[in-house]
Amino acid sequence: MMLEGKVAVITGAGSGIGRATVLKFVREGARVVAAELDERRGEEVVREARESGGEAVFVRTDVSDFEQVEAAVERAVEEYGTLDVMFNNAGIGHYAPLLEHDPEHYDRVVRVNQYGVYHGILAAGRKMVALENPGVIINTASVYAFLASPGVIGYHASKGAVKMMTQAAALELAPHGIRVVAVAPGGVDTPIIQGYKEMGLGERLARGQMRRRLQTPEQIAGAVALLATDEADAINGSVVMTDDGYAEFK
Ligand code: NAD
Repeated sequence: MMLEGKVAVITGAGSGIGRATVLKFVREGARVVAAELDERRGEEVVREARESGGEAVFVRTDVSDFEQVEAAVERAVEEYGTLDVMFNNAGIGHYAPLLEHDPEHYDRVVRVNQYGVYHGILAAGRKMVALENPGVIINTASVYAFLASPGVIGYHASKGAVKMMTQAAALELAPHGIRVVAVAPGGVDTPIIQGYKEMGLGERLARGQMRRRLQTPEQIAGAVALLATDEADAINGSVVMTDDGYAEFK
């Protein structure tokens, strides 16, 4: 069990990459706070985690609200006594050609994808320092932090910010022994890419991977689990390309 004894908070835990990570983490011996906006999805993943013999609790969390993220972090300490891993993963997409964009959509994407990660870094960083428990903070970036694609300008902006926040936070939290890293998935077959498929770009997204198929949430969860182990201690301030070669292929 690669994560035996670890306590983790996972945001966006109810679907896709977050859900797969909750299930992977409990299988590997971690205890998990599943932080998710959608109550039904959050409760469902916790039920699945428990059925598999794992320990998990659901905390309804909107990551765009700092106090709710703080509450999820606090719950980890109340429930399991500490905090070792913070996975800032919740994210949304909004797909529309640039000239048809509504600024409100841009605002919402940035509130969730950028502020959500910032809130998680801040809440977890403060808690790990207070507990004197140097853990790891893992953020979900994207190949779209590096490469442009049509219809998702707010998403690009938010993921570019995640990339730079990962490096900046790693620098500032290093004196406390805390690592901050990110994963950058390529195209992963989850509900978030539905809008992309509806714009007729699903095939293009699948072709982007070197193996010419969409990734699975489980592939990304596997990489997140590796980064959460003490064996990944040398990896800090990095955005790890978990993209099946997407960025290189382009
Ligand atoms: P998903 O839609 O399957 O899961 C996202 C989850 O986040 C959902 O359960 C949703 O309810 C939750 N969520 C949305 N807003 C929230 C909020 N304000 N607070 C808390 N939870 C909220 O999508 P996914 O593909 O699993 O996405 C997970 C992360 O991976 C996102 O940050 C996304 O940008 C990133 N990502 C996805 C892909 C891809 O192709 N699927 C590629 C690169 C990066």
